[in-house]
Amino acid sequence: MKITGIRFERASLQLDPPFCPNWDPTPRRTFGATLTILETDGGVVGYGAGDDMGGFDGYEKYFIGKDLFDVAEHVRALETITFHAGRYWPIEVAIWDAIGKAKNKTVAELFGGAEKSIPAYASTGAVMTAPERAESARSIRDAGFKAMKIRVPQTQLDLGIETLKLIREAVGNDLEIMVDLNQAWRMPGDTRDPIDRKTAMNFVDAAVDYGVYWIEEPLPMEDIEGLKSLRGRGTRIAGGEMVRTIHEIRTLIDNDALDVIQADVVLAAGMDHSREIARRANERGHIFTPHTWSNGYGLAANLHVTAGIGGAPFIEFPFDPPTWTSERRDFLMAEPINVGSDGLLHVPTGPGLGIEPNWSLFKKSVA
Ligand SMILES: [Mg+2]
Repeated sequence: MKITGIRFERASLQLDPPFCPNWDPTPRRTFGATLTILETDGGVVGYGAGDDMGGFDGYEKYFIGKDLFDVAEHVRALETITFHAGRYWPIEVAIWDAIGKAKNKTVAELFGGAEKSIPAYASTGAVMTAPERAESARSIRDAGFKAMKIRVPQTQLDLGIETLKLIREAVGNDLEIMVDLNQAWRMPGDTRDPIDRKTAMNFVDAAVDYGVYWIEEPLPMEDIEGLKSLRGRGTRIAGGEMVRTIHEIRTLIDNDALDVIQADVVLAAGMDHSREIARRANERGHIFTPHTWSNGYGLAANLHVTAGIGGAPFIEFPFDPPTWTSERRDFLMAEPINVGSDGLLHVPTGPGLGIEPNWSLFKKSVA
């Protein structure tokens, strides 16, 4: 089966009220997403999303006319393009979606079919006052989640500790709590320096008193020695969500810089490479559970790969009502993905990714 076409449909959702994530100094009033559409001569169409795919025009020729099932060749082509341009891994998402549809299997089954569901952690993004976040933790617990992640601004580390204290008072040990300091990468134009090693260590030591499950990106990923110095202090250290190459993530794993490896399958080293990443991480006693924060398609792709490989104690579920809901996150899809009252995120059961685009967003039919 040959790939015959690759094209994109772009859509934007107005965000009122705006979403103000910890990692972006600019409030988000719109949310753009790009649907990647991959057509074949067998009538199968695959879809993907994650990166905005800006600048991809002209690279289609490296895929069109090639065998859909020649994944290794497609991944090599994407690596050569990614070196020069954007994170175009949604092409691989669309390829796996099409392969799953052609074989009548879920992508999770193609990746090993280890699990049908994974416990979700509610990954919050906004910064709130400590009492507000404690109230939010109560709601998240009551919705069935077994874990949640909070963000801590680098200029308000004390707020993070106060928030942990109030969350524990509100929900006791009902929730595992992850903490993300967002110190590994910056949005364009955000030129602030990261916090230093001593500051990070003081935060880690204060946070462990509240039994946190992991602390994410306390330092830049280049600071391998700094990251290693934070391990073994009573919690796990997580990171690697936005690496650009398989080599970067291998370096983090092989140096035991992290306890939790989070390379996003849509934004970092791709889906196929995730098998090696997970195996390599597991061999050294580390956990692989990827970042999923892009849009619903990105979440779905990460869910399928992670469930297929198996072994992840939790999977990230971007969710922070009222400003980040499943409906906002998944507006590109016909139906949002939701977590059951059991706190589990179930892998969609239809072939491929098992999800349909939201055709009402687009002027012309692209099915
Ligand atoms: Mg993160």
